[in-house]
Amino acid sequence: PGKKVLIVYAHQEPKSFNGSLLKIAVEELTKQGCSVTVSDLYAMQFEPRATRNDIVGPLHNSEAFNYGVETWEAYKRGHLSKDLVEEQKKVQEADLLIFQFPLFWFNMPAILKGWVDRVLVQGFAYDLSKIYDGGLLQGKLSLFSFTTGASKEMYSKEGVSGDIRYVLWPMQHGIMHFCGVRVLEPHICYAPENVSEEKRKEMLAAWTQRLKTLWKEEPIDCSPEWYFK
Ligand code: FAD
Ligand code: ZN
Repeated sequence: PGKKVLIVYAHQEPKSFNGSLLKIAVEELTKQGCSVTVSDLYAMQFEPRATRNDIVGPLHNSEAFNYGVETWEAYKRGHLSKDLVEEQKKVQEADLLIFQFPLFWFNMPAILKGWVDRVLVQGFAYDLSKIYDGGLLQGKLSLFSFTTGASKEMYSKEGVSGDIRYVLWPMQHGIMHFCGVRVLEPHICYAPENVSEEKRKEMLAAWTQRLKTLWKEEPIDCSPEWYFK
């Protein structure tokens, strides 16, 4: 109770399976007394492109544009665009970040990747030598909750798509751990389109169940071994 949760959600359709997973998380966490904020990226028409427009006012170096340098400088001076500042505030306040999305090409949808590219700027989420366990978002937890088109069998070490953990490496380790955020076990709903209605209801019930004891969970050991051993 009292915990703050930010759910960054990337699906176009509220009636989708992802939409149902979102609804469950909002309802269950709210019921627990958490304060839940949702960034519904498609509904917000969130800008995924990392451009000059993210910096308000004159550039640090207008001769040759460098997005990383410019956003770092703009962050320090309070010159980032309003939409980024708002998202950073939500991240700053959150104890737990939940990412809810359908897997697109072994990765997060572009709109969500754009959120990562634009919101987690240097100076805010990490800095020179302030990375991994020393990252600037220390003390927070994250959870990747996503759906797939392919089956669990396909996403096994011997399966055609390889272990699902290979897909999690860039997201959990490369993004969250890099910024100092600890990572809870991912929540993966395999192939909701291809299973029976009964199985879908079971998967949704499992998410509700997991959320009930979420705050008792220990983060994973987010090291290369977890992904590739
Ligand atoms: P939906 O189609 O919205 O939902 C599935 C079914 O659940 C629907 O019948 C819906 O009505 C039903 N449903 C919704 N809510 C409930 C409820 N409360 N109770 C019961 N039923 C409900 N997959 C991969 O595995 N790997 C990839 O690399 C990959 N790349 C992709 C790239 C692109 C560009 C696209 C478009 C898809 C890709 N996919 C991939 C597939 C994608 O991951 C799946 O289509 C997606 O995860 C399915 O989730 P959804 O929420 O969109 O499902
Ligand atoms: Zn890690």
